[in-house]
Amino acid sequence: MKVKIWLTALLCITMLASGCATATDAPPPETTTTDTATAYPNNTYVYEGAIKQFLLPEETFSEVRQGKPEFVMLHFTSAVMLSPTDPYNMDVIRSIFVQNELSVHYIIDRDGTVYCYVPENLMAGHAGKGTWKDDPHYTNRINHYSVGIEIVGIGSPRDMSPYFSADEYAKLDKRLIGFTDAQYASLKALVTDICARNDIPMDKDHVIGHNEYAPKKTDPGELFDWDRLLG
Ligand SMILES: [Zn+2]
Repeated sequence: MKVKIWLTALLCITMLASGCATATDAPPPETTTTDTATAYPNNTYVYEGAIKQFLLPEETFSEVRQGKPEFVMLHFTSAVMLSPTDPYNMDVIRSIFVQNELSVHYIIDRDGTVYCYVPENLMAGHAGKGTWKDDPHYTNRINHYSVGIEIVGIGSPRDMSPYFSADEYAKLDKRLIGFTDAQYASLKALVTDICARNDIPMDKDHVIGHNEYAPKKTDPGELFDWDRLLG
């Protein structure tokens, strides 16, 4: 029993390191009547360049959308707290999502491979509670209006300070920190495609960081180069 409790706690802490611990969004207003299952059929709302074999079970990890995607939200994640020397093991990262019942639409591996966890027609639980430009329409429920992307990476000392002491951070292999050229290339192709298919302007008002919605979050972090995506 002790081992199980310890493992559960460790996984929760590990997930928090991603900056992506989340909570189910508030229920939608009663006035929402869009038949989103019909409006956003599965087969046309997955990026064609994504690996689709690792979709999360819909009944546990997603809900029907209550609105059309209006934003793309970027995050970073890793298994660094669970496995500091092998933080980018995609099987371990996926298991963290599953065990914590978290979800996101896409996750980009270090080599640029894009995996789809949840098709875009469904809501994924990636944003948690927060607000965007003080608009109550989005407060605590931007999951319904966004497509979430996790970039596998480790942030700056400041980004990781909620999870690591300076000494612990200093022990990490510096080659593991930040993001790769392949990730930037794949991210740009993915975001361009999502924005085109969903009529989302590809600008800084619509492609946003998790930290901009939930200020306690630090991802995608100060190492992320927005100009490489939107410049
Ligand atoms: Zn996040």
